[in-house]
Amino acid sequence: MPECNGVLTEDLKLKCAARTDIGLIRHRNEDSLWVDAALGWLLLADGMGGHTSGDLASALAVNHILSRLRDAQEKGFTKYDVAVLLAKSVTEANTAIRNVSMQSDGVAPAMMGSTFVGGVLEQDKITYAHVGDSRLYLLRDGFLAPLTHDHTLVQEFVDAGRLSAEAAQVHPYRGLLTRGLGVHEEVEPDVGICTLHPGDRLLLCTDGLTDMVSEEEIGRLLGLDLEADEIAECLIEAAKYAGGRDNISVIVAWFTEQLPCNNDQCADEAHCDINQMDASHA
Ligand code: CA
Repeated sequence: MPECNGVLTEDLKLKCAARTDIGLIRHRNEDSLWVDAALGWLLLADGMGGHTSGDLASALAVNHILSRLRDAQEKGFTKYDVAVLLAKSVTEANTAIRNVSMQSDGVAPAMMGSTFVGGVLEQDKITYAHVGDSRLYLLRDGFLAPLTHDHTLVQEFVDAGRLSAEAAQVHPYRGLLTRGLGVHEEVEPDVGICTLHPGDRLLLCTDGLTDMVSEEEIGRLLGLDLEADEIAECLIEAAKYAGGRDNISVIVAWFTEQLPCNNDQCADEAHCDINQMDASHA
């Protein structure tokens, strides 16, 4: 996908790029992604299930959520609570994937699922939702912070103090999800809002990046003084250089103009939002 430049308002311009790569080992790319830079929509999903069903599941997730956003856009986006809209779209995507896998006639294996992470950028904030182990990161003042919290068994062990973060990074069962789209009849997405500061950069990515490249290195690459498409390419190449064991997908985005916000107020809001996010996992 080429680099994309969008205009959200006259003051705020969004710079973003999306890249996906099959990696060095896999025979299929089961990741799906979509970016609308003009509207500030960033969507990414990582399918599971093998054969053709992983591709199908992630494409269903992204397409379904995209169609719900487009419906809302046609009816007037401002009258929607974006967090509610995203959460509802994600739960509907869960049903859509399950309906297809139930109708499976042997061509597509019945077991298929997908992660999802996506965000809607408006003014100086991003509203986001996620299920699974695809991640949204915020790079601020040189520090990379995950805004999402993996829905994996290994992450639950880390949260419970039974496993170190370092051991989790290489754990053989680190891909075992506790929440995924299409897996159970119902799914609860995590939803959050983050107020953005001037200079902030966002990254959405699949585990094909985070399993292969350390957060320290991801943060360094995301902060490079390069164009968005060059950074996306650097991230993909870093994952491949490290072995490229899985499909790798990244979306990088940031505003190019100064954001019209009061710094103290923005800092307080972001702090609140991130805490709220943490509290939902407690
Ligand atoms: Ca993956």
